[in-house]
Order: sequence, then structure tokens, then C-alpha cells
Amino acid sequence: MPAGPHRPSEECRRIFALLSEYLDAELPLETCDEIEAHLSDCPPCVEFLESLRRTVELCRSFEPGEMPGPLSEEVRAELRQLYEKALRGRPSGGAP
Ligand SMILES: [Zn+2]
Repeated sequence: MPAGPHRPSEECRRIFALLSEYLDAELPLETCDEIEAHLSDCPPCVEFLESLRRTVELCRSFEPGEMPGPLSEEVRAELRQLYEKALRGRPSGGAP
């Protein structure tokens, strides 16, 4: 394994897929540990998690009394865009 800077990877995408479940506390502790370990070394994923958390809270605030259900496709699409933007916002290496 080359010891380079952490780059957006398949793992980031996998973590992204898990994050919404993570927020719903529906993941096994093992998986939460895995996500937290990844977040400790991946600022874009941390930023994304913050965006996700805010979005989820916003969605829930619009539906008082409703059971917090799975995120809608619309919200997922929006979150995916946020995530892609976070990944693209990373320095791609080299001097700025
Ligand atoms: Zn990541």
C-alpha cells in the first residue's frame, strides 16, 4: 500500500452509504467504530456527516409527531450531491 495522502475512495463511498443509518443509530457498534475510525482520518467525510446530521434534523423538524422513517430518495439525492461536492473540494495534491 502506498503511504500517500488519504484520497476519496471506495471506502468513503461505503462510509457515506452507512452514514444515514449511523445517524439513526441502527448500526451495530462494530460498524459505528469503523465509521468513527474513518472519520478520524477523513475531514471531508466529517464535513459531510455534519451536513447530513443537519439535514436529517431539518427533515424531522418538518414532521412533528411522525415516526422518524428512512430518508426519502429526494433527501438521499441531495445528500449525495453534498458528498460529491465535499469530495471534489479536497486538494488534489501538489501545490495550490
Ligand atoms: Zn472518507
